[in-house]
Amino acid sequence: AKKAGRNKTCVFDAEMLSELKHRRLIERELRAAILLNELDLHYQPIQGPDGHLVAVEALLRWQSPSRGNISPARFIPIAESTALIDQLGEWVLRRALTDAGDLPNASVSVNVSANQLTRDDVVDMVARVLEETDFPPSRLVLELTESAAINATPDICRRLQSLRDMGIRIALDDFGTGFCGFDYLRHLPVDTIKIDRSYIARLGDSETDNVFVSALASLASAMRLNVVAEGIETEKQMLLARAAGCNLFQGYHLARPMPKADIVRMHDHALRKCA
Ligand code: C2E
Ligand code: MG
Ligand code: MG
Ligand code: MG
Repeated sequence: AKKAGRNKTCVFDAEMLSELKHRRLIERELRAAILLNELDLHYQPIQGPDGHLVAVEALLRWQSPSRGNISPARFIPIAESTALIDQLGEWVLRRALTDAGDLPNASVSVNVSANQLTRDDVVDMVARVLEETDFPPSRLVLELTESAAINATPDICRRLQSLRDMGIRIALDDFGTGFCGFDYLRHLPVDTIKIDRSYIARLGDSETDNVFVSALASLASAMRLNVVAEGIETEKQMLLARAAGCNLFQGYHLARPMPKADIVRMHDHALRKCA
């Protein structure tokens, strides 16, 4: 048993070592990818109850010539474990605000890593990019995951407040996954919650799931927060999310994330229909 135990430890170490090496490799390639223009942003519509395009969420894409498409769920955590996330975060913001110049009236939602908010100069960075791109702060939403918000230090809360004082809105992403009570919501400067898609996926499965989403939505609207239902994949989920009181909708059923040219076309088409 002792021997087996020792072997097990060795295997574990070897795995950790190769995982570490792999992360280092990805990190190096990501650094190069920024310079080589291998990164791109796709945009997913966020619609109002009447199907109006209200906002778009910018989602990072990495097309590596050697590895193909790499998911942000894989490489963002690697960037977060190094200072690379700051450079990447600034690149994303600048690109999103530049692209959004072609989407008049729509808000643009940009994901921000909690690590970016640990830096004291993050507020200056956002202000500088807004100025360089001549983008109105009132059309920018910064998405922060709920789990990051729960762990926000007083410094991070202060930075969120400064961003909000500039007119930027703050959304809590993947809401419900870091759940540990609502008290922190009273202290955090936020405008929107995005109910995690795992809850939306269960809508209609049982009365409990519906009641849970309804309760989140009514609490949020009582606090005058917007409520986005994320990850809507079926018409039934759309109807139930609406019945539960969500006021914004996002998911494959409505539209997948798409390249800039496609979202601009969709947006222009919607404007023509209104005119
Ligand atoms: P997120 O911010 O919660 O973004 C939503 C994710 O759900 C996106 O995955 C989107 O493509 C996917 N999604 C949208 N609708 C549906 C649906 O109906 N069904 C399903 N199954 N999925 C749907 P994606 O693009 O792979 O991004 C994954 C995560 O990576 C994001 O989750 C976000 O946390 C992170 N991420 C992406 N871009 C950035 C970025 O520029 N900066 C930072 N810090 N994180 C980013
Ligand atoms: Mg998001
Ligand atoms: Mg999300
Ligand atoms: Mg997510």
